[in-house]
Amino acid sequence: MAVFPFILIQNKELAGNDTLIRHEQIHLKQQVEMLVIPFYVIYLINYLINLVIYRQHDKAYREIIFEREAYANEQNGDYLSQRPVWSFMKYV
Ligand SMILES: [Zn+2]
Repeated sequence: MAVFPFILIQNKELAGNDTLIRHEQIHLKQQVEMLVIPFYVIYLINYLINLVIYRQHDKAYREIIFEREAYANEQNGDYLSQRPVWSFMKYV
């Protein structure tokens, strides 16, 4: 998980997982662009709205705009260097 300015991982082996690390780096960029605290507020509100809509934790989590961007681009090795600012807005 990404908690600005850190990426927290469960064990050392995961540090070599490029997809996971890129996913969390995307979240770090989102957090900087949202000035950190508002990121967490909107993340939580988006999750709660999704939970009302979908009534399912996994679906509510995956449909959070920040997660949608991260999952859509976590396997693209060029994404972070080419990503325009506020790219998560494409996933609203
Ligand atoms: Zn994520």
